[in-house]
Amino acid sequence: SRYFTINDHPQGAPARALFELRETALPALAEGEVRVRNTWLSVDPYMRGRMSGVTTYIEPFELGAPLEGAAIGEVIETRDAAFPVGTRVRHMGGWRDIAQFPGSRLEPLPAFEVPEQAYLGVLGMPGMTAWTGLNRIAGMQEGDNVLVSGAAGAVGSLAVQLAKAKGGTVVGIAGSQDKLDWLESHGVKAVSYKGKDAAQLTEALRKACPEGFDVYYENVGGVCLEAALNTLRVGARIAVCGMIARYNEATPSAGPGNLAMLLIRRARMEGFIVFDHWAHYPTFLEEIGPRVESGQLDYEETVEAGLERTPDAFLKLFEGANRGKMLVRL
Ligand code: NDP
Repeated sequence: SRYFTINDHPQGAPARALFELRETALPALAEGEVRVRNTWLSVDPYMRGRMSGVTTYIEPFELGAPLEGAAIGEVIETRDAAFPVGTRVRHMGGWRDIAQFPGSRLEPLPAFEVPEQAYLGVLGMPGMTAWTGLNRIAGMQEGDNVLVSGAAGAVGSLAVQLAKAKGGTVVGIAGSQDKLDWLESHGVKAVSYKGKDAAQLTEALRKACPEGFDVYYENVGGVCLEAALNTLRVGARIAVCGMIARYNEATPSAGPGNLAMLLIRRARMEGFIVFDHWAHYPTFLEEIGPRVESGQLDYEETVEAGLERTPDAFLKLFEGANRGKMLVRL
């Protein structure tokens, strides 16, 4: 098996040289184990946190050990009757070409007529995150005006579409013209944050939605949060999903100076981790699966080819090079 590991805990933006490709001979399968040839690997912003060597809501990556992440593959050898050779599965043995686990750590793929990698994106963890944040955390109601940052990424691109399907005005913040175009083509008012300070972004958001927002779906932090706070309506809810603008900061920058807007607008701000809500994944699939299958909900992918490119794909998340879900195809 060839796998990636990291040889140090990065400070600031990780360098490409941090990632080392190693090879190991896998032992013969023990009773109950399964060997999987990976076909798709997921790279996700939360992995940056696991590289820091600190336990947050999840254990840090161990230096020298294979990195972990969601992956999809095909069973090629088995000693678990529940997973015959040829079964397509999802598991957490990413960042490698061949994974070997007890069958209890594998999930068979749901049966929707979608490309299998959709279970790493729109019908996987990122999709479930968008649905959870909007419905269960922000409590989005019919007709709400909704603002989403990181709006053309894996999570954001589903969040804006779900909001659009039952919302009033939906505004998405993103970084590049192709992302703004994608948002506009889905009826979402698109605002770029590039080159704008909080006052300029506030002005652009007010222009896009003069009445202000009932819900802010937070993926980014920094200037986006500060501007969003200025544009809340009374009783607004902020679902804090992520703050990617901060993940590579070696020393934390100051927070927004206008948190008092929560008070003025009687707003609520709540963070969440999708795994705490995983018992609702079947409900999510039942609701969203058919809408993805029928093409009613759109999703995009940005694909890097080959195991060697996995660190590059990961690092590109922080450059905004992906539209929709960032994936590696093996
Ligand atoms: P994305 O597909 O959205 O990829 C990351 C995007 O973030 C980039 O494409 C880029 O888009 C944007 N970005 C990167 N750096 C910055 C920056 N400095 N300032 C502003 N935007 C930036 O990733 P995901 O959809 O997988 O994740 C989105 C967010 O959701 C992340 O914050 C992630 O940590 C969080 N998350 C939280 C979960 C939870 O359980 N709470 C679960 C899953 C994800 P652009 O071109 O627009 O700059």
